[in-house]
Amino acid sequence: MTRSSHTLLCTAALLLTAPFSALAQTAPATPAAPTAAPAPKPNLPNVVILATGGTIASSAASNTQVVNYSLSQTVNNLINAVPAVNYVANVTGEQIANTGSQDMNPEILLTLAKRINVLLASPDVSGVIVTHGTDTMEETAYFLNLVVRSDKPVVVVGAMRPSSALSADGPFNLYESVQLAADPNARGKGVMMLLNDRIGAARFITKTNTTVLDAFKSAEQGYLGAFVGGKAYFYNQPARVHTKDSEFDVTNLTSLPPVEIVYGYQSNGGTMYDAAVAAGAKGIVVAATGNGTITTASKASVASAVAKGVVIARSTRTGSGTVTPKPDDVKEGYVSADSLNPQKARILLMLALTKTSDLNKIQDYFNRY
Ligand code: ASP
Repeated sequence: MTRSSHTLLCTAALLLTAPFSALAQTAPATPAAPTAAPAPKPNLPNVVILATGGTIASSAASNTQVVNYSLSQTVNNLINAVPAVNYVANVTGEQIANTGSQDMNPEILLTLAKRINVLLASPDVSGVIVTHGTDTMEETAYFLNLVVRSDKPVVVVGAMRPSSALSADGPFNLYESVQLAADPNARGKGVMMLLNDRIGAARFITKTNTTVLDAFKSAEQGYLGAFVGGKAYFYNQPARVHTKDSEFDVTNLTSLPPVEIVYGYQSNGGTMYDAAVAAGAKGIVVAATGNGTITTASKASVASAVAKGVVIARSTRTGSGTVTPKPDDVKEGYVSADSLNPQKARILLMLALTKTSDLNKIQDYFNRY
């Protein structure tokens, strides 16, 4: 092998295995990645990225491998991979966690929310971005939607492909999220999620597919807007209470009341309800069949949970639609979860239980948030 063909092969091998941060530096149209954060430009807004991990911060052994990858990128790697953000805002980063989002927990949620509230209280900060794994990002986004005390933009962003992939989606999603966080028109819309050019409200958008780029949908209520030609266009406003109008306050919280989810199906008995209560659950969300129906076989266990003060919220496993309240709900110890899917109903029930165990008040939260 000649020396130059060896060099070529090595370069090709490097390109195949390099994370996006390295690949980006080879792209001719992209400005060179700064080695250190550039000096702040007084004419640009200040945006802070809080990183928590996920696929956007992961890489695989080759650029064609889009499953079975692992965490590898810090917040600075993410920022340096997209030098163009420095023309939109003064971007700084903080590493809050570095985890797959299946392992997000109340402790990280509370840390994140409190940090965002501190940052947004500063007149110097225009917006905040949270980079996050896509598996549970809607739960974190909805939590933040209920506890962030500001109408400045908060954007939760992730990626379906790891940073090492051909056509990794993370860098462009991140670029658009910086544009969104810096955009005065994005204020007052609640916490937003941004992937694949679509801007979704945390209350309504959900992950609908395990792997495709277009995994996030807001099927019934629609999107807030979309990025088109490098600009955010808005068309909707979330109708439910959020952020600065919310009654929920994390300032003095150090934990959240435990709430479990029980799945409904034919012949579902009481075993999982009994286990949840024995484990100390203060609330149980039922991913119930259809319009919130619960099997006769589980009713004795549900009644026993209610007798112990556990709040039961009827959501649905259907994937969309509103679980309508029944006249006897409160008498039987239930609330209905409106159109929240089970995982978001769990978030609201945890926060509701920090304030009250009164079923009428909790139903009122589900009706309004
Ligand atoms: N396992 C990843 C996570 O949720 C999936 C992703 O980020 O797309 O952290």
